[in-house]
Amino acid sequence: DLRVRFAPSPTGYLHVGGARTALFNWLYAHHFGGTFILRIEDTDTERSTQQSVDAILQGMEWLGLDCDEGPFFQTDNFPLYKQHVQKLLEEGKAYRCWCKPEELEAKREAAMAEGRKPKYDGTCRHRQDQPLDQPHVIRFKAPEEGETAFDDLIKGRIAFPNAELDDLIISRTDGTPTYNFCVVIDDALMRISHVIRGDDHVNNTPRQIQLYEALGYPVPIFAHVPMILGSDKARLSKRHGATSVIAYRDMGYLPEALNNYLVRLGWSNGDDEIFSREEMVQKFDIANVGRSPSVFNPDKLNWLNAHYIKTGDPARLAELLKPHLASRGVTDTTAPDLAGVISTLQERAQTLEEMAERALFYYQVPQSYDEAALAKFEKPHLAAVFTAVAAKLSAAAITTAAECDALFKEICTEGGWKMPQVGQPVRIALSGSTQAPGIGEIVMALGVPEAVARIQRAKA
Ligand code: GLU
Repeated sequence: DLRVRFAPSPTGYLHVGGARTALFNWLYAHHFGGTFILRIEDTDTERSTQQSVDAILQGMEWLGLDCDEGPFFQTDNFPLYKQHVQKLLEEGKAYRCWCKPEELEAKREAAMAEGRKPKYDGTCRHRQDQPLDQPHVIRFKAPEEGETAFDDLIKGRIAFPNAELDDLIISRTDGTPTYNFCVVIDDALMRISHVIRGDDHVNNTPRQIQLYEALGYPVPIFAHVPMILGSDKARLSKRHGATSVIAYRDMGYLPEALNNYLVRLGWSNGDDEIFSREEMVQKFDIANVGRSPSVFNPDKLNWLNAHYIKTGDPARLAELLKPHLASRGVTDTTAPDLAGVISTLQERAQTLEEMAERALFYYQVPQSYDEAALAKFEKPHLAAVFTAVAAKLSAAAITTAAECDALFKEICTEGGWKMPQVGQPVRIALSGSTQAPGIGEIVMALGVPEAVARIQRAKA
């Protein structure tokens, strides 16, 4: 029974690295018909916020990474963790430690000064003489000899000499359980079969394995995914640009583009770059995740985004584009119909922000015209062109962009003009600038009456 989980700590927004971890887990579960669980690791009550829980849920929803179970919250499980601490104490697998922080600090410094790796020296392992009401933590009695090893699905076999691993604190002075302990209890009780997470957790793994073994729980299979780096090969951070999933939404990326981009960060399937959700599910396997870190490449994300915009269904794009138009003051997108507008812009937009910017002229009569471009033409020529075009457009009953283009050819022939002599001024009259879609496309999206009105307006 394949069960995986995504276990974010709610101490900030959903980072693209976290989103990739979530996606890999989601795909792995869907590929094998398993279960994807969401667990919010909020035991650090100082740093966890509701706002960030909401941000994580929102990011996952936007990416379509729905969970089969959860979200669960670790703070709901405190009694469970305490029970397990108690069990280890009773079985002699954990012990109370009364060492004072300043004593530990002094020993740490001494070790560092001698060039030794600092490690708890086990002073309290056999100490029974201290009263229970004195402040103390609880430590796990880790094996002192041998090694703790695991076969990572991505990195291969990893072994740690037990002599290097401390007696981990599992319960703090105030009685709250520590991070590595909670993770193990939850993964065990949620019957997680595969732990797929960032490789910044590799060093936690041997400690966690020792805990599973001491508690008599089966050890899951681990897959540690290499980090995402920025172009300078440093770990991806805000210095490299946006790292929040929701920031990408707001910049006008499509969820399918970001998912496609993220799946290729570390995973590959031959030379293919474009994967629909179905193809990802069908082809994804941890076996094809690479061992080296991946570099975040914004140009590639833009390229994928442009691809999904170009090939997207206009009605769906319309839903995604609306907020970007609303933030520009366009809330009524019925006239002209937004899907029609979009079909004229899909070919050239890299992001929905760009598309919204270019769609504005359809909903707002141009407030100004590209004067530099207009200045290339004589005033009487412009007047003649606008008059002819307005007259022809009103009289003809065109229903397609092709018919419209044919009509403009006719206008050129009759007036003795070349296409650009007509096309340029008309584009400016309709949209304000020359960087607009083809005239036939604009006229059809705008509707003939509105197109004629704009040409009349430009003429005046
Ligand atoms: N809560 C951890 C994090 O946000 C993940 C722990 C895990 O996946 O085991 O990095």
